[in-house]
Amino acid sequence: MMRPTSVILADFDYSAPRSLGEALKERREHKGAHILAGGTDLIPKMRGQVVKPNFVIDISGIKELSYIKKQEGQVRIGAATKISHIIDSKINLGVLQEACKKLGNPLTRNKATIGGNLCNASPAADTATPLMVLEAQLVLRSFDGERIVPVENFFVGPGKTVLKEDEILTEIRITPPEDGAKAKFVKVGLRKADAISVVNCAVLLKVQKGVVKEAKIALGSVAPTPILAKEAQKVLVDKKLSEELIEKCAQVAAREAKPIDDVRGSARYRELLVEGCVKKALRELMEG
Ligand SMILES: Cc1cc2nc3c(=O)[nH]c(=O)nc-3n(C[C@H](O)[C@H](O)[C@H](O)COP(=O)(O)OP(=O)(O)OC[C@H]3O[C@@H](n4cnc5c(N)ncnc54)[C@H](O)[C@@H]3O)c2cc1C
Repeated sequence: MMRPTSVILADFDYSAPRSLGEALKERREHKGAHILAGGTDLIPKMRGQVVKPNFVIDISGIKELSYIKKQEGQVRIGAATKISHIIDSKINLGVLQEACKKLGNPLTRNKATIGGNLCNASPAADTATPLMVLEAQLVLRSFDGERIVPVENFFVGPGKTVLKEDEILTEIRITPPEDGAKAKFVKVGLRKADAISVVNCAVLLKVQKGVVKEAKIALGSVAPTPILAKEAQKVLVDKKLSEELIEKCAQVAAREAKPIDDVRGSARYRELLVEGCVKKALRELMEG
């Protein structure tokens, strides 16, 4: 639980490297240091004394971490790219852009970064589910090298990822879905805007001649990490989308969710929301 917030932060050392190389060096030298990108998650946690960093590495001034570009058949997004830049991107990012439009409010979107959203590892993170259905790959760099991790394997638990103490998430890679693939993002919060997801879901379907050839369904805020509803996905494959199939798939997805009661809703409410969100996404995809 978040403690009362204070305007006065506990003492910490701070560095603001101007290049990724410098940041990685700092990261190696100061094990346990916290990365600051937009600060929209980290600063409230520091004010609430949920985290008390001894050292903060501010990556917000590193230009080489902020970009959206096409390379080798992929779209590559720098980890420090702001949510507002993703929304404004001329490169079509489909369901990710849809989700980004629903993240927070304009002020938050102008500060918040995609990398911060992922590394904060909230089960409710709005960019996680679209990236999961897009099968995004994450580039994790340390001073000594890099590794690539599918976003599906990145989250370990609430606030926990596979990132090592000396690593920084530097890039998100997306292979654009093939022609014929369509995706939707559905989010339910306690308000119409500027609300953390009580449940969110992203659904991607590849349909050929009316038959579902591939289905991806990702659910947020219903388990310790964002999850893929793998059984629900199977319900759809090699079938023609119909109202009956949608009902069945949504019920299976609700059973795969493992929600808890919290301040935003009970577990039972969330199960019902999963069913509703999956149905909404599938109906919209069916209607084209
Ligand atoms: C008013 C408000 C509304 C919000 N609404 C939403 C919402 O609707 N949906 C939603 O999903 N979130 C929401 N958030 C949460 C937050 O804005 C997002 O999660 C945001 O994307 C975090 O990005 P950031 O750059 O601010 O992260 P920061 O706060 O800078 O960092 C978050 C965490 O990630 C780590 N980190 C950041 N970047 C990296 C990196 N490249 N490599 C390694 N570690 C890194 C930091 O050390 C920290 O632990 C909201 C926050 C506020 C204050």
